[in-house]
Amino acid sequence: MAQIIDGKLISKQIKDELKEKVATLKSEGKEICLAVIQVGNDPASTVYVGNKKKACEYIGIKSLAYEVPEETTEEELLGIIDKLNKDDSVHGILVQLPVPKHINEEKIINAISPSKDVDGFHPASVGALSIGQKGFVSCTPAGVIQLLKRSNIEISGKECVVIGRSNIVGKPMSMLLLRENGTVTICHSRTKELKEVCKRADILVVAIGKPRMIDASYVKEGATVIDVGIHRDENNKLCGDVDYASVEPVAGAITPVPGGVGPMTIAMLMNNCVEAGLND
Ligand code: NAD
Repeated sequence: MAQIIDGKLISKQIKDELKEKVATLKSEGKEICLAVIQVGNDPASTVYVGNKKKACEYIGIKSLAYEVPEETTEEELLGIIDKLNKDDSVHGILVQLPVPKHINEEKIINAISPSKDVDGFHPASVGALSIGQKGFVSCTPAGVIQLLKRSNIEISGKECVVIGRSNIVGKPMSMLLLRENGTVTICHSRTKELKEVCKRADILVVAIGKPRMIDASYVKEGATVIDVGIHRDENNKLCGDVDYASVEPVAGAITPVPGGVGPMTIAMLMNNCVEAGLND
């Protein structure tokens, strides 16, 4: 029987720790503030933004909502970011992605001041992570590290295999595991002998975006398996990139979907906001 890594519980612990820190800061007269910008009203984005607002409320972070219409121009959006960059009472700025097609996403990410880049997507943040400097780290992979650490799973010296090389999950995940002294292999869509590489892993992090692709034949007996994927299956049930029923009996530890990596992303966003406030 694998150890089930409970992301709901661990994310609640993190949020409760942050709540205490925020209360202390408030008693010292400092209020942490996150500005969330949503362009248009994509239903999925509205749900994500709503969840972020709720988390802010729970922890005691002030959230400023900029809900601007779909037709907002790139210049107008850059103008809002510029204003928020200059506003000392705002500690974190987040633009909910994706933005409408007429807006250049890269330009928007680059416009956010690295000191307020709580999503950790700015090239300066990514560069800082690569060379071991202080900076904001992308929330989902940062959450995976917390899941491992708080479940007492050793990373140092372990064979870590990450499947996926996206800018928001796979690449920062690999850098973070390296920072924790893991021996890291990154796999992707062109990797040959994927199964053989995965079977070497003591820690296998799966971020492919393919429902239930990884079954027990990819997993070494006793390995820790972290499933970053989120999908709805043919019965509208949530599932991950890992075939949980197949992998759980061989894994030493595993994250479920839902209730594994998912809840950690917002907890780590909140953590980044508090860090931004403390750095100020
Ligand atoms: P992405 O599509 O940007 O990247 C997928 C990666 O998987 C690519 O690097 C690609 O090379 C690799 N890949 C694709 N097919 C492969 C194959 N057959 N073999 C090996 N590698 C293959 O996706 P992403 O943004 O990194 O997200 C990955 C998954 O994680 C998605 O299911 C996404 O919904 C989920 N996700 C969850 C959270 C969360 O908060 N839990 C956050 C971000 C993403």
